[in-house]
Amino acid sequence: MHSEMFALPEETTQDELLSLIEKLNDDQKIHGILVQLPLPKHLDEKSVINAIRPEKDVDAFHPVNVGKIMIGDYDFVPCTPAGIMELIAESGVEVEGKTCVVVGRSNIVGKPMSMLLLHKNGTVTTCHSRTKNLKEVTKTADILVAAVGKANFISQDMVKPGAVVIDVGMNRLENGALVGDVDFENVEKIAGAITPVPGGVGPMTIAMLMKNTFTAAKNSKIK
Ligand code: NDP
Repeated sequence: MHSEMFALPEETTQDELLSLIEKLNDDQKIHGILVQLPLPKHLDEKSVINAIRPEKDVDAFHPVNVGKIMIGDYDFVPCTPAGIMELIAESGVEVEGKTCVVVGRSNIVGKPMSMLLLHKNGTVTTCHSRTKNLKEVTKTADILVAAVGKANFISQDMVKPGAVVIDVGMNRLENGALVGDVDFENVEKIAGAITPVPGGVGPMTIAMLMKNTFTAAKNSKIK
């Protein structure tokens, strides 16, 4: 893959960023555009995302791609949930008919994750900070996805024995260690399968970005 990186200074204006996106939208050599978020406060994230042509939106954050995921007719899926679906499929875990619980409802992870599990015929519950009796809900899960952003948030007593546990969290402890949202050491003892942090969902996210870019390039040849 040919790739170009634009490391813009923090003072970059909205107009400058939008005109770069416009240029890349029109560049035949470029099939995928990713704007690294979060943006500095003076930039409007929404209009920046909306400026990316949906066919080149390999992050799948543009409302057109978000809508397509909702109806189950999509080219791109946000990279983290896509990577998780790939992990599930490659591990031979069947989603159909399973009780799936996703803790977290962000646009990047939680919501698309729930939609993808639903498209695979899972029975899906999405939890968030206002969910009551969270433990009672997570304990019902055959497939539990934690995307909260709090170290060791999912404890052993929140997990059904034999459950597939997917840890999306990336939390930096004071000692510099990177840990997930799941208390791996204890949950591992009862889980049917579990992803580690680091080395689980993270690398899959990057792989899916490559996959989306490949899809975008392929689609550009078809059109
Ligand atoms: P957000 O902060 O956007 O979302 C966190 C979600 O967790 C929110 O929906 C929030 O609920 C929910 N939440 C917070 N506290 C609780 C609680 N006490 N009980 C139940 N739910 C709660 O985070 P992201 O989705 O962007 O990321 C989540 C984690 O995944 C982070 O650690 C992030 O670093 C990591 N991540 C990892 C990636 C990878 O490649 N491995 C990629 C992207 C993210 P509410 O909506 O009510 O506020």
